[in-house]
Amino acid sequence: MGSFTDIVQKEMYVFNDRADRVLALRPEATAGVVRAYLEHQLYTKKKISRLYYSGPMFRYDRPQKGRYRQFYQVGAEIFGGESPYFDAELMIVLARILQHLNVKNYIFEINSVGCDRCKADYSKKLQQFLNPQKQNLCQDCQIRLQNNVLRVLDCKVVSCRQVLKDIPAIREVLCGDCKKHQETLYQALEVSEVQFAESKYLVRGLDYYTMTVFELKINDEENAVAGGGRYNNLVSELGGPVTPAAGFAIGMDRLCNLVIPEVKKSTDVFVFFLGQRAMSDGVKIINETRSTGVRLIADYSERSLKNHLKIADREKAEHVLIFGEDELSHQVFLYKNMKDGSQKQIKFEQLSNFLKGLKND
Ligand code: AMP
Repeated sequence: MGSFTDIVQKEMYVFNDRADRVLALRPEATAGVVRAYLEHQLYTKKKISRLYYSGPMFRYDRPQKGRYRQFYQVGAEIFGGESPYFDAELMIVLARILQHLNVKNYIFEINSVGCDRCKADYSKKLQQFLNPQKQNLCQDCQIRLQNNVLRVLDCKVVSCRQVLKDIPAIREVLCGDCKKHQETLYQALEVSEVQFAESKYLVRGLDYYTMTVFELKINDEENAVAGGGRYNNLVSELGGPVTPAAGFAIGMDRLCNLVIPEVKKSTDVFVFFLGQRAMSDGVKIINETRSTGVRLIADYSERSLKNHLKIADREKAEHVLIFGEDELSHQVFLYKNMKDGSQKQIKFEQLSNFLKGLKND
């Protein structure tokens, strides 16, 4: 992932286990997917491989809203494709997911960090620009200035933001190929009506990106819901053949927080038994009728009907099933609607359908 990334330097969970082995919890999955791609030599089997993953990731950070130490990502990667249409495809898939979730207020922030040559040229230009103002940068950025100057761009420290106000945009130094890649991507997104804006500060936390980088923001939230980009060097850096690649990761915790579906209130039905014999037969029937989508809340205490109903009332029950000797002999349950006070007898074999009919739709 790059030794100078914050994720590796500050956020990785590394610890010794009981056998004194050094373990690290994965902070992201792209590098792991690349390893799997190489281990199984997928490049010999398919020209283009489209893969996905989902699972927990771990980052040692101060827990705060939208930033957890264990969180969940769903990600997709495309290997073997050089065309900017692959980058567009990834973003269009994300846009479709949002459409499906009825989220309209989203925007992709996009930038290009260029190919190796552009990256090196731009890094030099940035260093020239930032060096004279070094003392105004935060401690971290003074180190980044030497090791990984691009990361200065997305520093959130106020004094750094001030220095960065007038930085030259990378698009000014992009080579012909990188520029063409970016323009074609934008056109493809426009044609598919995907909402995006270029951001000259966007570089993303990982070193391996080349050319396209993007983040997906929703409803003016500061935190991105998904991020991704192109990483044409990672496969070869990890020992494979030169393989262009691109991908994204969605933060499921953040996505779910933004689109919490309306939770339907479940239908609760309280169940009372009157007398031992009714209890033993009735419990069996109730337990056989548990997959109707309503919650059967049984009370096995022996009480009078009056006291049972008092409790139901106190717990604001809307529906009650009563089963006593009388019901047992007639093979029915007595249903009482606590709202309107109405009652009716439900035959054993009709109980399931009757309960389904009570469900909140
Ligand atoms: P990254 O792997 O840093 O590019 O992150 C991709 C996505 O994962 C982000 O856009 C977030 O939605 C999510 N994410 C990253 N770090 C965290 C975290 N600590 N807690 C919750 N979600 C996270």
